[in-house]
Amino acid sequence: MGKTDGQIKCGNCGKWISSPIVFGNSKAFFSSTLVGNKLHCPSCDENTDCNKENMRFTEEMEDSGGFRVTYYEGEMTY
Ligand SMILES: [Zn+2]
Repeated sequence: MGKTDGQIKCGNCGKWISSPIVFGNSKAFFSSTLVGNKLHCPSCDENTDCNKENMRFTEEMEDSGGFRVTYYEGEMTY
């Protein structure tokens, strides 16, 4: 299993922001305190809400060098 990254979609500019918090897996994310907090967007310099509806997880593919989305908008996608 590759490296997993948690990302938040900015509600202002729509860009995906890599979360500063490193999650081992999605279970760790949901027990974290990030949900309900605000995250500063480096693209538009605004704060956006963090919740389960505007976040996703990506997992690095070790063989291809790309990544796949494993979780998006409240659903597991893989
Ligand atoms: Zn933004």
